[in-house]
Amino acid sequence: KAIDTSTPAGPEDSKSALPLFVPITLPNGTTYQQPTGLFINNEFVYPHAKKTFADISPSTEEEITQVYEAFKEDVDTAVEAANAAFHSSWSTSDPATRIKVLYKLSELVEAHAETLAYIEALDNGKSLQCSRGDVALTAAYFRSCAGWADKIKGSVIETGDTHFNYTRREPIGVCGQIIPWNFPLLMASWKLGPVLATGCTTVLKTAESTPLSALYLATLIKEAGVPAGVVNILSGFGPTAGAAVASHPKIKKVAFTGSTNIGRVIMKAAADSNLKKVTLELGGKSPNIVFDDADVESTIQHLVTGIFYNTGEVCCAGSRVYVQEGIYDSIVAAFRKAAEGLKIGNPFDEETFMGAQASKQQLDKILKYIELGKKEGATVITGGERLSKKGYFVKPTIFGDVKEDHQIVKDEIFGPVVTITKFKTVEEVIALANNSEYGLAAGVHTTDLNKAISVSNKINSGTIWVNTYNDFHPMVPFGGYSQSGIGREMGEEALDNYTQVKASDAVTIRTRKVISNPLLAR
Ligand code: NAD
Repeated sequence: KAIDTSTPAGPEDSKSALPLFVPITLPNGTTYQQPTGLFINNEFVYPHAKKTFADISPSTEEEITQVYEAFKEDVDTAVEAANAAFHSSWSTSDPATRIKVLYKLSELVEAHAETLAYIEALDNGKSLQCSRGDVALTAAYFRSCAGWADKIKGSVIETGDTHFNYTRREPIGVCGQIIPWNFPLLMASWKLGPVLATGCTTVLKTAESTPLSALYLATLIKEAGVPAGVVNILSGFGPTAGAAVASHPKIKKVAFTGSTNIGRVIMKAAADSNLKKVTLELGGKSPNIVFDDADVESTIQHLVTGIFYNTGEVCCAGSRVYVQEGIYDSIVAAFRKAAEGLKIGNPFDEETFMGAQASKQQLDKILKYIELGKKEGATVITGGERLSKKGYFVKPTIFGDVKEDHQIVKDEIFGPVVTITKFKTVEEVIALANNSEYGLAAGVHTTDLNKAISVSNKINSGTIWVNTYNDFHPMVPFGGYSQSGIGREMGEEALDNYTQVKASDAVTIRTRKVISNPLLAR
């Protein structure tokens, strides 16, 4: 589909500057117009400073394009646009308006699915298998949010027949949203869906290494009929544009997905600026537990999906595998065989399961942890090295002979690296699983339903997958216990983070005689 490439007037010297749209030819031979500017008020515009930065393909290490970089002044401009849009009829009109645009957006994502999947694989390095899944989930989530838009309800509260009390759920206002690079499009949808459903407005900052798919999504947002200023999307870096979002006095809520360390920074900035509401989706070191009575064949699939899906760059990756002693040897052998059978490499090869790691920084971090694991005395069961000199590819890596105090067991590596540990009893594995500062997800593999439920109830994490892993649905809330985060995304819970409850005197109606002390009236 053709994109409107008519652009507003740019800076004085815009003739020599990077155009606001550049043609990019994808590996499937199609050429599309990639936006490069900042998306503010439904237009792609030049930033105040005309600075650009390079966007690199992780699978080829070559530059894909330059994009414009946002700084504090641009965040201010975008917040003004979002603020004006919030005070328009957008946030107060019939929810049917919001249903319509969300539903249209889900259809547009589906209509542009292949282009989006190719852009994502090009920009992030992930395989097409993965990026197609991301696009499908993105469309499904916008559709689910369309369904929520007219189901945001308050309640009537009985306090006796002298008063009529009710609550409303009102949209919070202008939101700031900061997303990571591991699922650039999907994370944008998890942030934008509830904004659009509840009548909020937003300034969303993408991750510096993966700006492309969200800018393309912006063209669809406009086409879907989202009013100007409701969604503003900026490319930029954390300490500049990101920090300006987290500390902006007119932003009422900040939603962040990324590392636990930066989550702390965001929370401090939110507290110090205007005590904006904060939701955080942070790191994890999730246990994936296999009991003696598990079905080996399907369990292996879920161990593989758990750690090697999306090259292990998944916050809820099942990176600590615990296997009961009776089945340990057969699981290790089958897991190794499955890992060695995975196709790694060119993201655009239809057979490829694992593409490249998202950045050089991420590649270096993973390789550093692999070397650390070897030094700590763990055994490399398979993998343990880079795949080739060009492109950020790492072999699926399984470490055995690990100890609980090894860094590779404690730290989030965020790559295709998993540890495997033998256990004897249910009590022992529950203690091992809970021995982490994180609490995002866990897997339990058993054919005993009672064991599945009792173990699930005792594990400290926001999601437990039984006989499955990395299994998402738009209606099911996702988020962390402990240092894995605050708040939930998806499901009804996500809407709670974007609305606030009003139950003040303004909506408490007195129906009987007036008494000087209002408390006595009850
Ligand atoms: P990060 O937390 O630094 O970056 C995530 C987002 O936060 C990006 O958009 C970034 O620009 C922004 N950001 C960075 N510093 C900021 C600041 N001071 N103020 C405001 N925004 C800021 O993550 P990273 O460095 O890209 O990756 C480091 C590690 O984080 C990874 O290895 C992984 O362990 C973890 N991570 C987790 C997730 C997740 O889904 N939970 C996603 C990405 C990364």
